Amino acid sequence: MVVLFAAQLAEPHGPRGAVFGALLVLCIFGCVVLHELGHGLVAQRFGVAVREIVLLPIGGVARLLSEPKKPLHELLIALAGPVVNVVIAGGLYLALRSGGIPAFDLEELQKQGLTTPSIRSLLVLLLYGNILLAAFNMLPALPMDGGRVLRALLSFFVGQVRATNIAAGLAQLLAVGLAIFGFQHNPFLVFVAILVFMGAGQERATARTNVLLSELRAGEVCDPHAVIFAPGDSVGAAVDQALRSPQAHFLVSHGETPLGTLSRDDVIGLAGRTGLHAPVAGIMRRTLVRVPPDMSLTDVRRLLQENGGAPVVVQAEDGALGVLGLDDLARIASLSDLLARGGVRRPVAADPETSA
Ligand SMILES: [Zn+2]
Repeated sequence: MVVLFAAQLAEPHGPRGAVFGALLVLCIFGCVVLHELGHGLVAQRFGVAVREIVLLPIGGVARLLSEPKKPLHELLIALAGPVVNVVIAGGLYLALRSGGIPAFDLEELQKQGLTTPSIRSLLVLLLYGNILLAAFNMLPALPMDGGRVLRALLSFFVGQVRATNIAAGLAQLLAVGLAIFGFQHNPFLVFVAILVFMGAGQERATARTNVLLSELRAGEVCDPHAVIFAPGDSVGAAVDQALRSPQAHFLVSHGETPLGTLSRDDVIGLAGRTGLHAPVAGIMRRTLVRVPPDMSLTDVRRLLQENGGAPVVVQAEDGALGVLGLDDLARIASLSDLLARGGVRRPVAADPETSA
């Protein structure tokens, strides 16, 4: 993007234009970073960790480790980004006004050349850039900020799932409109429309699996026939087992006492280094995160995401029931989704009162 803008402005304005173009893009991406930090800081205030901020040619994304628990939290997190741009735009406007520059007199600005390299042009373009960033992100199209605001507001009245369905439907309608407009005016908008359309579909699917997972308890999905290793069992035995069964995580247990967990990926990845005769105790994960059997799978998933994917041990009073990892929940979610399409709900929720 930096090279592209530099080249574009080097044509009419020479090397000065190239520097100006590069500086402009860097400043705009700086504002995008501040926008994402706005989301991130508010998210952290509500106990939602931020995994990373990713910059893309079309903007940025603040990836959260888990979803906000309450609609009010989602509302404030979503608003925080555009608010940052409004604040920056306000500051730029005041700075320009105190310098006697008419920031909104487009005719006058165009006469002096909007992209002629100068501090004044830079500030004016950044002002417009921030207004555009705020306005564009506030379009009520999930998964953009405006769509999240809309979903959060609807959630207060119709619940999260219906709110998501309504917001996603509106977003896909807007995306189709944007694509038609883009075909006639700007192919870049078609690209954005496709991203919005797919993003909205993804949000809808996520909301649906959230409901399905919230109706299941950790204890209900543990396999009573799951293979359990003793600490002295060999890595070779674990490799054989990994090839024979789709089980993704294994409990390593001394009698009834859980000592650690072993993931299939670790077994396969480390077998070459440890040799097949080494005991599994040497490669097991020793930190045990225990969850009760009646914990809902949405809570289990949140815990897994917050722990960076380390599996949890489902612990009943009379012993461990099994190990669950993110891959298990993904499998359960997709199977539950297929079953729900056929009108089947299994296994029956342990506590129907809290599963509604
Ligand atoms: Zn945003």
